[in-house]
Amino acid sequence: MAGDECAETETLAHLLARRILMDGPISVGSFMAEALGHPRLGYYIRQDPFGSGGDFTTAPEISQMFGELVGLWCVDSWARLGGPGPFHLVELGPGRGTLMADVLRAAAVLPLFRDNAIVHLVETSPALRERQRRTLQPILGDAIHWHDRLEDVPDGPTILIANEFFDALPIRQVQKTNHGWFERLVDVEPDSTESDPRFRFVLEAFGSSGSRLVPNSLRDAPEGSVVEVSPASQAVARLIGARLAASPGAALAIDYGYAQGPAVGDTLQALRRHAFAPVLEAPGEADLTAHVDFAGIAAAAREGGAQSFGPVEQGEWLTRLGIRQRASSLMAKATPAQAKDIQSAMDRLIDPAQMGRLFKLVALATPGAFADASPPAGF
Ligand code: SAH
Repeated sequence: MAGDECAETETLAHLLARRILMDGPISVGSFMAEALGHPRLGYYIRQDPFGSGGDFTTAPEISQMFGELVGLWCVDSWARLGGPGPFHLVELGPGRGTLMADVLRAAAVLPLFRDNAIVHLVETSPALRERQRRTLQPILGDAIHWHDRLEDVPDGPTILIANEFFDALPIRQVQKTNHGWFERLVDVEPDSTESDPRFRFVLEAFGSSGSRLVPNSLRDAPEGSVVEVSPASQAVARLIGARLAASPGAALAIDYGYAQGPAVGDTLQALRRHAFAPVLEAPGEADLTAHVDFAGIAAAAREGGAQSFGPVEQGEWLTRLGIRQRASSLMAKATPAQAKDIQSAMDRLIDPAQMGRLFKLVALATPGAFADASPPAGF
């Protein structure tokens, strides 16, 4: 039987088509998980997708100011937790390591923070782990701990950050028909072959998954509605909540998505070289993401035992943390051309028409752990 290890030229599309022809349609969540994380052919596993030459750009890659302000948030949270001795500084999905590098540089304002931080990176991609090593080794030497999953990070006081991590976790989609809620699945086109695979959406045959997955609040949505749920995101959020319930700590999740979710609508999208692409077209070769359900993440973290704050819009949060002042001080030392870049990077991060409104932050913390009982900075 042909296996995963056969032809060198085999694409992920061939592999998924063979699996579907053999076993039947797969969930949108399985398709997304394989497209992003297949151990050999997944999108994040194969390459470094960031930056102007890649498929998309993230906030830390746009400007150092983003990571510096996240770093000040980490330092402030740690200090208000009473500066618990050695602690785990955890990042989920660190990309190129840029955010962590900027966080650590800004954290120099409180040397005790740096001295006590044990850095853990939760990253599944070998290519990106290597990229993170190159970025962070000059700062941390060999004191970097990589893990495949948050479960593997040792217990203890924690400051955790995650930028554009949750949007990469698999979502499942359900659709309302005149017979109720059915899960959307990915099948091959009827005339498609194993060597020329093309995919299409179908609905499950009996509606058992659909009726189980749809949230109660949306059960009465009109016929034709699509609703997305992310059991994978909720599981991670619940785990963060449980960590923060067991030991003092705080967490910051930054992503794009809806505040009052889950909402009705299909938000699954593919990005390839800075342009939208059909979502089923080339699994493994395009980034696939979906809107993050912030209310769902906060609720799952509370179930795990943490307190939640927000969501707050990114533009508002960065402004509260002083991005304008930071930009002015950088511009004062810059050439006119650099000053223009700093200004446009700041605009991109905070302008409501760019990233300022769509991107949001949720903070999580150990209930009652902040010394002055006030919310985390910016919330
Ligand atoms: N935080 C970075 C990168 C965001 S892209 C930035 O802001 O630039 C998403 C990151 O999450 C990548 O590093 C990707 O490899 C990682 N990732 C995706 N799914 C993951 C999973 N299930 N477990 C761990 N890391 C994952």
